Amino acid sequence: MIIQLENKITASQVEKINDAIKAVNYKAAEVKTQFANYLVCIGKNDFDIRSIGVLEGVKDVHRVSESYKLVSRKWKVNYSVVDLGDGVIIDNNDLTIMAGPCSIENETQVQKIVAHLKQNNIRIMRGGVFKPRSSPYAFRGLGIEGLKMFSSICRENGIKIITEVMQVSQISEMHDYVDVFQVGARNSQNFNLLDALGEVDKPVLIKRGMSGTIDELLQSAEYIFSNGNEKLMLCERGIRTFENAYRNTFDVNAIQVLKDKTHLPVIADPSHGIGIRDYVSKIALASTVAGADGVIYEVHEVPEEAASDGQQTLNFEESKELVRKLRMLEEVRI
Ligand code: PEP
Ligand code: MN
Repeated sequence: MIIQLENKITASQVEKINDAIKAVNYKAAEVKTQFANYLVCIGKNDFDIRSIGVLEGVKDVHRVSESYKLVSRKWKVNYSVVDLGDGVIIDNNDLTIMAGPCSIENETQVQKIVAHLKQNNIRIMRGGVFKPRSSPYAFRGLGIEGLKMFSSICRENGIKIITEVMQVSQISEMHDYVDVFQVGARNSQNFNLLDALGEVDKPVLIKRGMSGTIDELLQSAEYIFSNGNEKLMLCERGIRTFENAYRNTFDVNAIQVLKDKTHLPVIADPSHGIGIRDYVSKIALASTVAGADGVIYEVHEVPEEAASDGQQTLNFEESKELVRKLRMLEEVRI
């Protein structure tokens, strides 16, 4: 059960609501986000929730029996909007395109990609500076200095930044230079990181773990939300299956299922989803038709020379063509 409290609630009203929750043998957790105050209540008894709904100070009450609650559409039917400022919003109405290299490499690379994004009206650039790599000898990113450079070029050009945060200690040093924190597949269930991102007033995009179920992804999002941050997006990036003809199995089903289960924006990552450059655009288009609210893909001036993930990275020509087709599909996706 979720109870949304009135903004101007008194201490004695809260006490009465808590008494009523205890009386039906439920346990309540207080959740305070940027936008509202809630009591998330867990219990087994079946009782008439109208008895809570009539109490003073209660704005809304719903029964939500899933393991995830605040991110559920049983709680909030209308789709959420994530606002990055300066007119850049991610919502259910328009398709958001985010693109950029797997890794930030140097100033010239960033400038060239920024110019490509601007030419194609893309307002959000991706690019990792802290890179989770399978091998410790692979390029692991430019770190915080790279982020500062990436951020200053993007800010000069009106481009928003999404980049991966790998651990709690990085959040504060990255904070002023990012517009969206990305939680990578490998950290999808790093609960300490999720808790900490719940305390930040910046949007977070959380990727599905390689072996994560849809329910687990939603519960990971619930960690962030229940710690106070409602500015959330989910990302399908493929899962690991027995199939080894491609890097991951992009789960197009997940997009529709997530759109049904949660009010949060759903973003598709076809680059990691299939991992093969020649197929990335088609999977991006397929995920758009399947109802994704946005697509995030890897692009580089010379993919063959990219410091990481070149095998799944589009060049500027391919990217331009993809954007043209994605925009043609905008109407179909709703
Ligand atoms: C990435 O976006 O570059 C990345 C490492 O993705 P994932 O966490 O999905 O593997
Ligand atoms: Mn990558």
